[in-house]
Amino acid sequence: TVDWSASISSVVQDLKPSGIRQFFDIVATRKDCISLGVGEPDFVTPQVVIDHSIQALRDGYTHYTGNAGLLSLRREIARYLEKEYGLSYNAEKEILITVGVSQGVDLAFRAILNAGDGVLYPEPCYVSYDPMIRLAAGVPQRVLATAENDFSLKAQNIRDALEPNSKALFLNYPSNPTGASIGKDELLNIAKLADEKNLIVISDEIYGELSYEEKHIPFPTLPGMKERTLLLGGFSKAFAMTGWRIGYACGDENLIRAMTKIHQYSMLCAPTLAQIAAETALRYALSDRDKMRDEYRLRRDLIVKGFNDMGLKCFMPQGAFYVFPDIRSTGKTSMDFAKDLLEAQNVAVVPGTAFGASGEGFIRCSYATARKEIEAALTKIAAFVKA
Ligand code: PLP
Repeated sequence: TVDWSASISSVVQDLKPSGIRQFFDIVATRKDCISLGVGEPDFVTPQVVIDHSIQALRDGYTHYTGNAGLLSLRREIARYLEKEYGLSYNAEKEILITVGVSQGVDLAFRAILNAGDGVLYPEPCYVSYDPMIRLAAGVPQRVLATAENDFSLKAQNIRDALEPNSKALFLNYPSNPTGASIGKDELLNIAKLADEKNLIVISDEIYGELSYEEKHIPFPTLPGMKERTLLLGGFSKAFAMTGWRIGYACGDENLIRAMTKIHQYSMLCAPTLAQIAAETALRYALSDRDKMRDEYRLRRDLIVKGFNDMGLKCFMPQGAFYVFPDIRSTGKTSMDFAKDLLEAQNVAVVPGTAFGASGEGFIRCSYATARKEIEAALTKIAAFVKA
């Protein structure tokens, strides 16, 4: 017989299970729980996208597409980035359609890393970066975004974390889990550092459209940065399309060609129906996108005020749909706070430590939840904190 526990690759054996999953296995067993836990829109995908997609199925769009994805979608993405940000990409050579930003992250690391190459990435961060770097035989090199700076990444933090083997810098702004973005001046400092140290930049800007203060500044729009940056974008968050599994990667044609090579063998192409849905979203659902963003902004203001009013310090995040309140005044660890809150009030939040050790002392609350639910959750959390 096969000894399976000894047969799994050591890299995979050493991966830790996602801190979010662990916690939500507990949440799943509870009834009537108010969850501020999940990182996905409560909105359903815009109706026009659903209608077009159903029609596309009836019209027989059930076959493979080319490896890089439908050219019409890539052209639509090029137009979108040009119109929104003045960014210009060649749809035929510089854009690859991926299975969510998730696959874009995986392909990027696999395309650029040799064993032992280092990738700098901000922490606290989305759960997949560290494991994906390891699976590509790279070395995760975390850069701490600190609470004193409201978790906004600084060039100096990156400089402090640099190692001789650092090859790439991974960015994510607005950030999951903190909602922090990076201001123009600091982006310019980071760009200067990337140039100085000749770093490849991979920028996960999946929350770019969900920016509430100033217009989002994509990293490749900074002087000299387009040629060294891989831009990852998607539809899951801004267009409420998590389940469709669709995203895109834009960058230098050599890198896109390398990523397409891996994609062609491992995935063949992104789902055809999802590609059609994405194209429809860009053509006909920009007003839905804007309406959802306006609603998130209202929810953000509500939840930030709620936490500050109950004495849990919470900075105003510039984007995404998360707040990251400071729970250190309660004397509890993040995990204990989340577990005890669930036990006492049946409200689920995510312990900050799910996003790296530097998340200790904080919890992540998603406001991709109806305002009524947010209000009810805030009342319960306030009662919990008071008790
Ligand atoms: N990047 C960040 C920062 C995320 O928060 C998420 C999902 O939560 C993803 C990537 C994955 O997105 P997708 O659904 O496009 O794979």
